[in-house]
Amino acid sequence: MKGKVKYLKAFLIIIIIVFTSYVSFIVYNIWIKGKGSPKTPETLNIGIAEHVKIIVLYDNYPFDERLKTAWGFSCLINVSGTTILFDTGGDPETLLYNMNMLNISVEEIQTIVLSHIHGDHVGGLTSILSLNNHVKVYVPSSFPNSFKNEVRSYGCELVEIKNATVICEGVATTGELGTTIKEQSLLVNTSKGLVIVTGCAHPGLVKIVEKAEQLTNTNVYLLIGGFHLIGASEKEISSIIEQLKDLGVEMVAPCHCSGDLARNMFKEAFGDNYIDVGVGKTIEI
Ligand SMILES: [Zn+2]
Ligand SMILES: [Zn+2]
Repeated sequence: MKGKVKYLKAFLIIIIIVFTSYVSFIVYNIWIKGKGSPKTPETLNIGIAEHVKIIVLYDNYPFDERLKTAWGFSCLINVSGTTILFDTGGDPETLLYNMNMLNISVEEIQTIVLSHIHGDHVGGLTSILSLNNHVKVYVPSSFPNSFKNEVRSYGCELVEIKNATVICEGVATTGELGTTIKEQSLLVNTSKGLVIVTGCAHPGLVKIVEKAEQLTNTNVYLLIGGFHLIGASEKEISSIIEQLKDLGVEMVAPCHCSGDLARNMFKEAFGDNYIDVGVGKTIEI
C-alpha cells in the first residue's frame, strides 16, 4: 500500500513539473513576442505617380493676382489620371471662385482627402459635395460621427483612415498621426522622390517626414503645405530646418500656417530649392 502511495506522489510531482514548465514556456513566449522583439515596421507598396501636377487653390498667401486669398488651405493634385482635392479651405465661395478662375470644374474631382478637422481645411467640403457626389472622401477615423454622417448624406463614399493606406497608384496617406489634433498627410511618390503635402502639420513636420520615409523607404523630394510654425522661435525653426536637411528633404514649399519668419528662414536655408507658394501656384513634377 505504502509503495503505491509513493508511486502516485512521484507521478503527481512529474505531472506538476511538466505542466508548470509548459505554462512557463507559453507565458515566456507571449511576453517575448509582446515586449521583447521589435515590431516589424509598417511599410507601403505605394507605386510610382506619373505626370504630377499640384495647384494651390486656397491659401492665405497670394501668388496669382486674379485669385482671392483667405485663411486656410486647399490644393488639387492631378496624378496618373486621377484628380485629388486635398483639403477644401475655409470659405466655400473663395474656393469655388478660385477654381472657376483657374478653369477647374468641380466635376473633375474624383477623390477628396481631408487632413484634419479644423474649419480652415474642411469648410469648403459640403459646397463641393453638393455639386459633385461622385467622389471618395478620405477622412481621419477620429473625425466625429456627425461629420461622417453628413458626408454620407450626400451619397458619396466615405473612407475612414487610421493607418497608412494607398489611395491610387503612387499616392498614399500617412494615416492618422499626432495625439491631440489628429492629422493625415498625403504622399505622392514621383520619379524624383516623395512629395509630402501637409494641411497644418499639427503632428510636427519632422515626425511626418520620418513617418513618410519609414513607410516608403524613399527620400523626400518636396515638402509642401502648412508647416504650423507661426509663433515658433528662430531657434526652434533652425532646429527643424536642420533635422529636415538631415532627413534628406530636398525642396520645401511652406505656405498657409507656416508664418513669415519660418518662410524667410526656409528660403535662406534652401536657396534655389525653396518654392514661393501662394494661391494659384502650380508645381509640375
Ligand atoms: Zn490650418
Ligand atoms: Zn489646423
